[in-house]
Amino acid sequence: MELVTVGTGTVAPSAHRTAPCHYVARGGLRILLDCGAGSLHRLAALGLPWQQVSHVIVSHFHPDHWGELPMLVYALKYTTVPPRRDPLVVLGPPGVVRLLKTLAPAYGEWLLDPGFPIGFLDVQDGEPFPLDADVNLETFPVPHTPESVAVSLTAPEGRLVYTGDTGPSVQLARWASGCDLLLAECSLPDDQPLDMHLTPTRAGELAREAGTRRLVLTHFYPPVETTDPARRAAAAFGGPVTAAKDGDRFTIGGGGGRASC
Ligand SMILES: [Zn+2]
Ligand SMILES: [Zn+2]
Repeated sequence: MELVTVGTGTVAPSAHRTAPCHYVARGGLRILLDCGAGSLHRLAALGLPWQQVSHVIVSHFHPDHWGELPMLVYALKYTTVPPRRDPLVVLGPPGVVRLLKTLAPAYGEWLLDPGFPIGFLDVQDGEPFPLDADVNLETFPVPHTPESVAVSLTAPEGRLVYTGDTGPSVQLARWASGCDLLLAECSLPDDQPLDMHLTPTRAGELAREAGTRRLVLTHFYPPVETTDPARRAAAAFGGPVTAAKDGDRFTIGGGGGRASC
């Protein structure tokens, strides 16, 4: 399973980080974990096959995490050559179907009927949802907004857990237990903690409690970037930590979540 941290930023405009988007490729799956502003152009800049995206998994309904989803559908409708025939599946916590149906009258009915098969589905917490014969999706509620979930992708070779936006959570650590790569939000500096986001030290503590092999930090608001978040998280974790940049690549499995570049 390959992970590319496409967008490691937030809603805060940044010259170097676009809003949240993480690309996972495995077999025929091309998955986006969140699809925030700037995702499409960043995918193109990184040479990733945005035309082949099979699934978009939304972690919660803050618009920096899904705002580019309508543009993805629009781009797939009008700019793929030959015209797209493969289905696109949009998954998220309960409410994702209502979100898309609410957006459609404003954007246009093409959002629900773009000319290729498209499906929207609310995923229930704790119920494994197969994405193909090998890869299972699971979600778990996290303390951020009422609908917010963390996302787990489990393949025979390893398990990736993405926290989405979350505050500290013992339950999340337990659920993520033993994952090969923990992709954790790292919004705020250690001296500005909030219950709805993680700091570097709290991300490191989460990784330690979960016993993950590797911690990758994402979702940086500008103030946390000045505090060497990887070093602080590593001090709390005691394992390997990467403060991801847009375009970083990782491999899950075949040796355990090593960075491939
Ligand atoms: Zn959020
Ligand atoms: Zn966010």
